[in-house]
Parts: sequence; C-alpha cells; structure tokens
Amino acid sequence: MSFVLHKNGGLEYMTAENIAVRHAFTTRRGGKSRGIYSSLNLKIHSDDDREAVRENYAIICRELGTRPERLVFSKQVHSDTVRVVTEKDCHRELFSEVPYEADALVTAEKDLPLVIFVADCIPILLWDPLTPAAGAVHAGWRGTVRNIAGKAVSEMCRSFGSKPDNIRAAVGQGISFCCFETGDEVPEALRALLGAEAEDYISPKGEGKHMVDLKGANRLLLEKSGLLPENIEVSRECTACGSDKYWSHRATRGLRGVNGAFIII
Ligand SMILES: [Zn+2]
Repeated sequence: MSFVLHKNGGLEYMTAENIAVRHAFTTRRGGKSRGIYSSLNLKIHSDDDREAVRENYAIICRELGTRPERLVFSKQVHSDTVRVVTEKDCHRELFSEVPYEADALVTAEKDLPLVIFVADCIPILLWDPLTPAAGAVHAGWRGTVRNIAGKAVSEMCRSFGSKPDNIRAAVGQGISFCCFETGDEVPEALRALLGAEAEDYISPKGEGKHMVDLKGANRLLLEKSGLLPENIEVSRECTACGSDKYWSHRATRGLRGVNGAFIII
C-alpha cells in the first residue's frame, strides 16, 4: 500500500509512504463548511463562509503542526512556472490576493509549508531527503503537457543542488484513466511532448473522444527527469470516481471546493 488514509476526529487525509516529512493530500472530509462546500473546503475565493474556510485551514494546519499564516501558495494558472519560495512568501492573510502566479513551488527552507490546490488535476509532492528540499506541483493536462513536473525537478537541482536519483515523488489523487475523457487537444499536446511514447497514455473512444492517463504521463515525465522508478508512488484513487471522498470538478460540474496537497521539510 503506497498511500495511507489517516483519520483524526472527522478529518481524513492521505499520505504517501515514500515521503517521510510532514505532508498531506486532503479529502473533502473533516471540515466545517456546509452545503456544496461540505465539508473540508480549502478554496479561498468562493462564496463559502469565510469563517468556515478559516476553520478548515486551522484544522489541517493543526494536524500538520503548522499555522495558516505560514502557508506558501500561489495563484495557479495551468502554467509551467516553478517558483522558488522562501519565508518571504508566507501568505500571512488567508483572504488577501496572492501576488504571483505559479503552478509549482519548491523550497529548501525548513518549516515552510508548501500548498497546491486541485479538484481532479494531479497533485505531485517532491521530496529530496539529502539536500533537503521539497516541491509541490499542480499538474492539470495543460501543466502536464508543459512538463511542469520535470521543470520542478530541474529547479530543485539548479537551485538547491538536488540530485534526481535522490528525489522521491508522490503522484496523488486526481482524475484517472477511467474518467478523464477529452477531445483531440489533449492527445495532440501529449504527442507533441512525448512522441510515440504518448500512446501508452491515450485510449481512443471514437468520434474525436479519448481517455487520457495524466498520472501515468506524469510518472513517465518524472522518470525522464531522472527520478528512479522505485522512488515514484502513484495513487490509484480517482477523484471523479471517488467524489464522495475528494473534490472533483467533473463530478460536481464545478460546484465544489478544493483538495490541498501540503509538504513541509
Ligand atoms: Zn474514475
């Protein structure tokens, strides 16, 4: 079992066995939000009750031994921008605007919690136990075909001196091969990046529709960036199949909160 479910009170979250520092892939269970946001909603700019969202952050931060005002997160825009973050990037007021866009965060600072948000997109946590250093990656299909995962690994190597064969990766819960149906644009972009190797992650459904395996493609991209296959864990859970447990954009038709992926060295 490569991912483990943790329960504390009502809170439920997953961890990956290959990452030995504080981290979490949150579910929608164990928060204070109500209605369509029930219950562990981490979406900040929504019409959810702000006090409930604050409480939700307090719950997960308490579990991870940190505080909401320490969190580092970005405005996610499906880019391939990797940001090296430090103490200066702590988002001290939860509801204030994030001043920068990025879809991957990397750091070598201890006790600095990195967070990315997903609701079907693929969350990837990176950990280099030697440097040490960490990364958190938001990989939807646009980020995947821009190789955001590989670029985050490269940035850890460039900025912190990480070696790819020391880096552990956990590709967390996201929409899977069973549910990620696309038009031609996703397979075409994947082929542009991976050539013939892309075919392993594409299954034609006819009439211009395809099923695409984003988690598998990200595993390949991490291997191509130098990670050892045995250092990569991939969650089998699909957020769209498991929308009672995780926030899923597709399963809820967009009426939803977000899951968070957290890591702290
Ligand atoms: Zn599914």
